[in-house]
Amino acid sequence: MRAIAAALCGVLVLAIPTAVRGWGMDVHRHLTRRALGGLPPELKPFFDEQRDYIVEHAADPDLWRVAGLRTAVGEEDPNHFLDIDDLDAAPFANVPRTWEGMVAKYGIDRANKAGRLPWRGVEMYDRLVGHFRDIGRPNGPGYAADNARYIASVLSHYLEDASQPLHATGNYDGQLTNQNGIHSRFETALVLRNWSTLNLAPVEIRPVGPMLGFMFATIIESQSLVAPILAADTRATAGREFYDDGYFAALLTPLKPMLERRLSDASSIVASVIVQAWKEAGSPPLPLNTGPRSPARIRRAPAAPPK
Ligand SMILES: [Zn+2]
Repeated sequence: MRAIAAALCGVLVLAIPTAVRGWGMDVHRHLTRRALGGLPPELKPFFDEQRDYIVEHAADPDLWRVAGLRTAVGEEDPNHFLDIDDLDAAPFANVPRTWEGMVAKYGIDRANKAGRLPWRGVEMYDRLVGHFRDIGRPNGPGYAADNARYIASVLSHYLEDASQPLHATGNYDGQLTNQNGIHSRFETALVLRNWSTLNLAPVEIRPVGPMLGFMFATIIESQSLVAPILAADTRATAGREFYDDGYFAALLTPLKPMLERRLSDASSIVASVIVQAWKEAGSPPLPLNTGPRSPARIRRAPAAPPK
């Protein structure tokens, strides 16, 4: 019996990192598609040209977790969240804003357990600025445009995660309040069941400012929305035996305005950050594969002197 229980625990522990934590993959795709549609004319054709590719890859970072990819800082999983309410109470002034500060204060294990989402967002933003800069350089690498599109897709994933309230709390799956599974019920089932009837605001390009502060502000706002989600789940499950249509209808009613706002925000945030990265790179003209290109200059070695 104990062996079975232990085996089940093992399965659950293995399943949790991949099964939860992230808007559902299709929700990521929807949000990134909306964001690209809201880009200004200087950027939109460049992304439109590869829109399906960019949208598809917006789910990649979650697949890196499934595949168990690791980088120098560790596994991929903590890049997707910051359990900020495990570290401090609102307004979270005591949470270090640098990763080095996190490690110094909490030690590497606890810092990784809390998550690395703000710094991962900054890392991908900086990469995007670099690829946009490469596009603007006269002899920049020919693949800079492809890199910019791909990293914009990856960055969109992490920005969308930051806008998901259950990525900003230690009670990310309701496991501390006997509401297990709320993470995917909220971010996947609730959204996809209602996607066609949700009333999302048009994408807005907003000021972003320094990226690290922006990541924290987005995550802190997300954390403030955790309590209403859990309260709505408690009410929706009362007197019910299954997570059926009635449950999801009862969950949606109180949460609909917030859900619509947060999903709308997510796409506006993605579009706004891409615009800022492009401006920070000096607003280079963005090439189109289908458009005319000036030919690259052939570089020859100087002729050898006569013998
Ligand atoms: Zn994610």
